[in-house]
Amino acid sequence: MKKLIIANWKSNPTSEAEAKKLFNAVKKTKAIICPPFVYLSVFKYKLLCAQDCHWEESGAFTGGVSPERLKDLGVKYVIIGHSERRALGETEEIIEKKLRAALKAGLTPILCVGEKKRENAKKVINKQLKKNLKGVIIAYEPVWAIGTGNFCSPEKANQIRKFIKEKLNNKILYGGSVNSKIAKDYLKIGFDGLLVGGASLDAKEFKKIAKNA
Ligand code: PEP
Repeated sequence: MKKLIIANWKSNPTSEAEAKKLFNAVKKTKAIICPPFVYLSVFKYKLLCAQDCHWEESGAFTGGVSPERLKDLGVKYVIIGHSERRALGETEEIIEKKLRAALKAGLTPILCVGEKKRENAKKVINKQLKKNLKGVIIAYEPVWAIGTGNFCSPEKANQIRKFIKEKLNNKILYGGSVNSKIAKDYLKIGFDGLLVGGASLDAKEFKKIAKNA
């Protein structure tokens, strides 16, 4: 089975010209690419992913981007519950609403779960996993590993992968400071793919990671 490699550009790059340059350098990898909202309509590409969505289809929700609108642009995937959104106050209730709205619109949600430092991973993930997750991709992203250069060892991450797999038969990805040296170890051990943040902004490094798919 082909592994899923996802590039989460977060709030980067800072101009459309830079975004096009990065996109052109990595598009042949066939990775799923998550540019900022404003660049989603710039790229004609089958594997586009939004970094978030609103739960309402339309209305008085300033700044809100609905799943229907994303679908209309040709977007296929949407990240939901990223720890950087949770840190801004996103609750389980909001995440649940976004998940349902994304599924209803026909998008494939990528639900991010993971513990903070000193938290019990299994306990936290138990609360973050919802009912009825058919069609949802799960990304195990320990919060302490995101953007820190301090990845979770493949062996330790695999314990959590197995824990999730006991509950759900969904695809499970790993995310958290993945680089080209360690990427294949997560895939070999059983992860269905990788969610890559920082390293996805370096075309050369990202292409090395994507080669493992
Ligand atoms: C992420 O944005 O989900 C992520 C895993 O980032 P990084 O690879 O930079 O840790």
